[in-house]
Order: sequence, then structure tokens, then C-alpha cells
Amino acid sequence: MNRRTFGIHGTVALSAAVFVCAAHAQPKPEVGNEPFAPFKIGEGLYYVGGTDWTSYLLTTKEGLIVIDGGDAAVGKQVVANIRTLGFDPAKVKVLVNTHEHFDHAAGLAEIKKAAPGLKFYASAADGAIIAAGGKGDPFLTGPRFEYEPLKPDVTIKDGDKVSLGGVTLTAHITGGHTKGCTTWTFPVTIAGKVRQALDLCSASVLPGYKLGKTETYPGQTADYRKSFAFWRSQPCEVFVASHGGFYGMKAKKAALESGKADAFVDPAGCKAFVDRAEAAFQAEFKKQNP
Ligand SMILES: [Zn+2]
Repeated sequence: MNRRTFGIHGTVALSAAVFVCAAHAQPKPEVGNEPFAPFKIGEGLYYVGGTDWTSYLLTTKEGLIVIDGGDAAVGKQVVANIRTLGFDPAKVKVLVNTHEHFDHAAGLAEIKKAAPGLKFYASAADGAIIAAGGKGDPFLTGPRFEYEPLKPDVTIKDGDKVSLGGVTLTAHITGGHTKGCTTWTFPVTIAGKVRQALDLCSASVLPGYKLGKTETYPGQTADYRKSFAFWRSQPCEVFVASHGGFYGMKAKKAALESGKADAFVDPAGCKAFVDRAEAAFQAEFKKQNP
């Protein structure tokens, strides 16, 4: 979500068209859910999301894995993008999610429709909200933020692993942006070398979030701090996230297409992102707790 779409204490009066959970204000808010040509990031890893609201496809010898569904429009695009890449969407066996906000979870039901046999894995806190179609978020309330529910088949905890066809994803609960915000790590081969990919949930403090003594949800401030420490502890060699804008997806894609095979290998960019997000969090905390 973009900072300028919310008043700090005002009522939520934004259009879905500018809802972007960016860590910092973008010069020009973009919709995020327009169709975007799918492309290969590394061996068995593909971008299948919209212009900013991301979704990733992992291919394995036993079927497909999808991370995030975008909103309902992106969810439909994900299914079409999988087909465009030459894979069968019905072969999605594993579906996971970063967080319950509609721009990442509303499209999950669309993917389930294309692959009714898949198993959906989510954290306890965010999974309960996705199962309720977006209802129950402590901050984003009302019909604008609600969507077609999808009940998790499996509830994941911090450190749990989800495996399919020799590919293993590890779930890391990195709360703050949402209570059950989940960062996923997994190995990916790029330019002949196996590296750690890290799909960062979100580090942004939404305008109106309460930090310190009064919190948007109990424990939120401590969750953010723990999440920043976790992200710093990781190699984060292939940095991706729930929003393309968090890691410069479009610029990296352009570099990849101009011949830079390891364009998505960016541990320094990952650290810089965490630095910026933590500084923004600290500034907001200080403002609210002088
Ligand atoms: Zn969000």
C-alpha cells in the first residue's frame, strides 16, 4: 500500500487502483495488477504475477508450486501465464502465500479453481483471515479489502518446510506488516550456481499502524524487530518479494533480457531494502513514541 493513499488518521479512502504495499512512497503510484509477460528468473523459477503484485511459479518433476495469487485479476493472469510458459495450471500441487492482504491473497481462489487438487499452505494468523475472505484484519476492514475465501489445507509454523518433487520451500514467519506475514526461502540455480532465493513478505508500516504501547495488533512492534533481524541473518542472494517494486523487478528483467544472466542475484539490494525499511520503521516508531 502506498503512503499517499491513506491519511494518517483518516478513514480509508483509497482506490484499489493505487493500493500498493510499498515500503516507501513511489513517485507515481501504479495499479500493480495489469497483465505482465511471464519470464524465467532462474532454473525452475518463473515470474507469473502482474506489473507489481507478484506471483512466482516453481516447476518440479512432480508438479508445480505457486507463491501468491495477487488480487482476483492477477489470479486469472497467473493461470494464463502458467499456460503461456508451456505448463499445465492443473498441475499446481502446492500453493503458498506471503500475506492475507487482498493484493496477494484474493487471487488464490482463482488458482484453486484451475487446480482443484492443490494443497494450500498458510500461517495460522494469516490463513484464518484468508479463510474468511479478508475479514478479521485488524486494520484493513470493509468490503474493499474482502475477497473470495480459500481455506488453508495445512497450517504452517515458523521453520516448516514444504516439499514437492525435490524442491523444498522453508516458511519463516516475519510478522509486523501482518501478524502471520510469511517469508519463503528456497534454493534456485542461476548462472550455474545454486543460491538462496528469498521471497520477502513485506516490511512496510502502513500509514495508520500503531507502534509501541498501543499497537495495531498485540506484539506488532516486537514482530517487526524480529523480522528485520531475521532478514539480515539471511544470505538473500536472489531477492524477490510480494511487490515487484520492492526489488526492482522490471529493471532486473530488462537487465536479464539484455544478457545479464544473474540479474536477479542481488544480496546487496536485499540488504539495502531491509536497511531502508528498518529506518522507516524506526522513524515511525520514534514519531509515535517521542
Ligand atoms: Zn500488504
